[in-house]
Amino acid sequence: MGSYPCELLARQSSMPDLSGVPKFTPLEFDRPQDPRSIVNAMGEYHAMLDAIRHGRVNGTLAACPDDPVARAEHLKSFGYFADAAVVGTCLLPASAVLATPQRNPALERLADALQTRQTKTLAAGIDMIMADLKDSIKTPPAAIDDHTHAIVFMYENPRTPDADEVGTDWLRDAQDHRAGLLAAETAVVLAEYIRLLGYDARAHTGADADVDLNQLAVVAGLATVEKGGLSHPYIGTRFGLAAITTRFEIAPDQPLVPMQQQPTSAFGLRWQIGGGYARNASNAVPFAKRRFVDGAHPFETLKRVDNPTTYIDAPRVARVPKRADLFARAQFGDMGKPLQKGAAGGHYARKAAPSMAQRRALGAFVLLQDGAAADTRVQLPPQEAADLVKATSYWLGCDAVGISACPDWTWYSHDARGDVIDPPHDQAISIIIDQGFETMEGASGDDWISVAQSMRAYLRFSLLGGVIAQQIRNLGYSAKAHTVMDGEVLQPPLLLLAGLGEVSRIGEVILNPFLGPRLKSGVVTTDLPMTHDKPIDFGLQKFCEACNKCARECPSGAITAGPKLMFNGYEIWKSDSQKCATYRITTEGGAMCGRCMKTCPWNLEGLFAEKPFRWAAMNIPAAAPVLAKLDDALGKGSLNPVKKWWWDLELDENGGYLPAKAPVNARSLQKDLDLKYEDQTLAVYPANLAPHPYPYPFPMDREAGIEAYQAMITADEYKLHVKNGTV
Ligand code: SF4
Ligand code: SF4
Repeated sequence: MGSYPCELLARQSSMPDLSGVPKFTPLEFDRPQDPRSIVNAMGEYHAMLDAIRHGRVNGTLAACPDDPVARAEHLKSFGYFADAAVVGTCLLPASAVLATPQRNPALERLADALQTRQTKTLAAGIDMIMADLKDSIKTPPAAIDDHTHAIVFMYENPRTPDADEVGTDWLRDAQDHRAGLLAAETAVVLAEYIRLLGYDARAHTGADADVDLNQLAVVAGLATVEKGGLSHPYIGTRFGLAAITTRFEIAPDQPLVPMQQQPTSAFGLRWQIGGGYARNASNAVPFAKRRFVDGAHPFETLKRVDNPTTYIDAPRVARVPKRADLFARAQFGDMGKPLQKGAAGGHYARKAAPSMAQRRALGAFVLLQDGAAADTRVQLPPQEAADLVKATSYWLGCDAVGISACPDWTWYSHDARGDVIDPPHDQAISIIIDQGFETMEGASGDDWISVAQSMRAYLRFSLLGGVIAQQIRNLGYSAKAHTVMDGEVLQPPLLLLAGLGEVSRIGEVILNPFLGPRLKSGVVTTDLPMTHDKPIDFGLQKFCEACNKCARECPSGAITAGPKLMFNGYEIWKSDSQKCATYRITTEGGAMCGRCMKTCPWNLEGLFAEKPFRWAAMNIPAAAPVLAKLDDALGKGSLNPVKKWWWDLELDENGGYLPAKAPVNARSLQKDLDLKYEDQTLAVYPANLAPHPYPYPFPMDREAGIEAYQAMITADEYKLHVKNGTV
C-alpha cells in the first residue's frame, strides 16, 4: 500500500483526456558550464542504468501467480521496498508510446569509456555481467509494440535546499535529476526482474525512454494535471518518474480525479496527525525541519569520544589480503566442494530472482566506481569539503554519513589480483544504507527475500557512493567507491572511526543507534582533505554484554555467547565467520541470512514510540538486561506475515524460477534456548591462518581455526602483553 494513504484519494473509472498532459521534459546530465554541479557526477551512472534498461528474457516462465491483482501488488511492494514514494499500474495507452524514442546522449560516450575501464573484483559471476553489458550497449532495444501494461514509479524529493544553506553548493537545480536517478534504479531492477520471470519488460527513465512518462503517471493514478503541470495530492510537484512497460499481465489502477474533486476526508485529521499512516502532513516533506548537512536522524545528540569504545591496537593491526574474504574463499574451494558450488557464479544471489535482478546493476556499476581525476583541482577548505560531502550524501538518500582518516591499517594488504596495496588515499567517507524496516518485519531473516535485502542496500550505496566519488574526481581529487563487489578497505573500523556506530555482539557488524544493525555500509576513499568526525559512545557495550539474543537466534551458531576478545589487533565479539558464510551460502530454505539483524532489539522502526527504549538503552546501562527481556516478552523480532510480499521461488537447473524445493525458513523466536558459551565450538582465522593473496585454492584448516579461537585473549590481557613486550 506504500507509506502515503493513497487509498483515501478519489479515482475515476474512465480514461482522462490525455491531450492536456504536458510532454515529459527529458533530463540532461551535462553541465560543463557548472563543473561543481552534482548533476555532472550523476550522468555516467544514469547512462549505465539506461544501458541495461532492456535485456535478455528468461526462456523459462517462472511459477509466479497468474492473478493480475496478486502480480500488481507484488510489483508495487517491490517498488516500495526499493523506497518508491508511490507506485501505480495501468494498461499501456497507445498515445504514450513515443514515435521517436528519447535516447540518452551520454550512452555513446559511456560505451567508449567502457573500452578502457577495468575491474579487479573477485566477485563471482562478474564476467557474465560484463559480457552481457557489452551486448546490451551494442544492441539498441527493439520496439515495444507488444507491450500491454505499465508500472510507474514516483520518487519524491526532499525540500529544495535553501540558497545559503551550509553544504548545498553542489545541489542547485538538481532536484529533478536526483529523483529521476533514484526512480531509474528501481525501474531498471524491476524490469530485469520481470524478464527473469520470463516476460519481456523494458525500463523507461527520465533520460532514455520509449514512452512519455507524464502520460503514464496520469493513467496509472500517480498524478493529475494542475495548473499546467503534474501534481500528486500529497507530494505536490516534488517528484521524479520512471516506468516499466511489459507483456506481464497486471491489474491496472484507476486514474485520480483532479485535485478540486478530491474529498476533504483525504486531507482530514488522520492525514494531518498521521493516524495509522507512515507518511502524513507532519512528515510529508523530508528534511523540512533539518539541515541536509546534519542528516535525517539527530546524530548531533550523540556523545562523541576520542577513541572507539572497543580497543584497537592500531600499530599492530595485521593487514590481510582481499583473498581472505570468506565469499572469495568459498569461491576458490577453500571451504570444500558444496560451498564452492553454492558460491560459483554468485549462485547464492542468482538463486532468488529479486537479488539476481539487483545484481546486474550492481555489477555494471563496478566499472564506474573508480577513475581519473579532472585536471583542474578546485580548492576546498577541509570543513567546507566535509559539509559538502555530508549534505550531498544525505540529500541523495544516504541514511548516515561519517568522515574519518583512512589509516594504512584499514586497507587490505593485497588486492584481488594478489598485488600489494600501497594505500592511495588517507581520507574516508563512510556511508550507511538502511536495509528497510518494513520488509524485515515480514522476514525470517534467512528466507527468500534475505539476499535481496542486502543487495538492495549494497546497490544503493554503489549508486550514491559512486556519485559522491565521481563528484570528488570531477573537482580534481582522486576518489574510489569501495563497494561490495570491489573494495580494498575493511569497513568496520572506518565506521567506528567515523562515529557511525559501535562494535556489537554480532561480530563484524557495527550497530548504529538510530538504524540498529539493519544496515549495509560502503566507503569512499579519497585524497580530498576533510574535517573528521569522532567515534560515538551510546552504551552499546554494556547492552550487548547483557543481551544474547542475536547469538541465541543465529541459525548457524556463529555468534559468540562469550566475551569480547582480541582478533588481529581489534577487540570484538568475534563470530565464527566460517559457520556464518557456510549457512548463508548453503541454506536450502532461503537465500543468505541476516537473522541476527532482524532479531536484535535495536532493529527499530524509527517511531516516536520507540524513543523511551532508545533513551533508556543509551542512558541507563543497568536497564539493559530488563530491556532485552522486555523485547523478548513483546515478541519483537518474530514474523509479521502482513508484511510478506515476496514469492518463494528458487532458480532450478533449467534457469527458471520455480517453487522453492525445501521448506521455507520461517523461524519464530527461540525464547527457551539457553545458549552457553562453554557449549560453543567456534573457529577464527587470524592473519597467521589467512590464505595467500592469489586467486588459487588454499584449503581452510578448521582444527587450527578452533585452536586459534581458544587462544584469543581479552583486551586487558592483551594490553598487559603489550606493556611487557610479549605480543
Ligand atoms: Fe545469519 Fe550469519 Fe547472522 Fe548467524 S551470524 S544470523 S548465520 S547472518
Ligand atoms: Fe547486542 Fe543483543 Fe543486538 Fe546482539 S541482539 S547485537 S547482543 S543488542
